[in-house]
Amino acid sequence: MAELQGIDLDRPGRQTGTVEIRDGSDSVRIPIVSIGDGEGPNLFINAGSHGDEYEGPIALRNVLRDLDPGGIRGQLIAIPSLNPPAARAIARTSPIDNIDLNRAFPGKADGSLSQRIAAFVSEVIVPRCKAVVDLHAAGRDYQFEPYVMMHVPEQLQSRALFDETLMAAQAFGLPRIFVVEEPERDGILSSEGMLDTFVESLGKVFLCIEAGGAGTTTPQTVAVTERGIQNMLAHFGLTGDAVDIPGGPITPSHIHAKGFQFAPVGGLLEITCELGSQLAAGEPFARIHALDSDGSNPQDCTATIDGIFAARRHPAFVEEGGLIGGIAQPFAT
Ligand SMILES: [Zn+2]
Repeated sequence: MAELQGIDLDRPGRQTGTVEIRDGSDSVRIPIVSIGDGEGPNLFINAGSHGDEYEGPIALRNVLRDLDPGGIRGQLIAIPSLNPPAARAIARTSPIDNIDLNRAFPGKADGSLSQRIAAFVSEVIVPRCKAVVDLHAAGRDYQFEPYVMMHVPEQLQSRALFDETLMAAQAFGLPRIFVVEEPERDGILSSEGMLDTFVESLGKVFLCIEAGGAGTTTPQTVAVTERGIQNMLAHFGLTGDAVDIPGGPITPSHIHAKGFQFAPVGGLLEITCELGSQLAAGEPFARIHALDSDGSNPQDCTATIDGIFAARRHPAFVEEGGLIGGIAQPFAT
């Protein structure tokens, strides 16, 4: 069961409380904040679904600390660490039930701890809100240029929802927006169980923020996430501030399965281009040195398509077939 302590989501003002969720002897306490006058738009900002992603949990706390409750119309509901057991384990998933929380939506109120956390968000928080911003990062295994992720129009209820989502994505103000087509296997989308899919199925705007990664933060990745959160408050009308996008709104790019790059062999991974580089199909972007080699014949990894080198593996050792990079192409809106 889930119990809200020290907070009443129907009351205006600034409140900080806890959600306590129990499953037998296992329990978790999740911080939750509600700010606003209750008269206007409702926005939910979530962070920390995966325990090894840090920009969102830190940037959201920094923004919450400085928010003037008198300056917020409507209601901001913020959860800066949705998955404390995974955070303590420095892991993507919770060690209590080994479930990926962002594949457990809409959850089960009588399921395992992660499924109960998902059910609380789906049943208590999402129905109250017009839009959801979910703060993620690349975790320990990958590193991204900070980007906003959204889905292709075909995977949303309507073109209008796509357009509304794109406007919000541009307002967040990160260097890139990636429009993603989730692959389908046996009739099941790989986005099955994600908070994204649940919120989008209700016809609401959903943004996934992927800010940095490599299992840590940098001053830049935290700063752009903080600015993005402030921009969301402005864009959805919770503050009277102007949206601040250096350089103006950007056009989105597209990541699809053909852009995923896999290791042709296992070994030491030497990525030879910077994130954000423009690559041509066939151009080497990395090489792999076999552990038993003397360095004389590394295996080149060549780009499968033209595009921007947008994501890379972080640990510099990879098994054969492992995902080592992602290449994005311009998306035609
Ligand atoms: Zn994540």
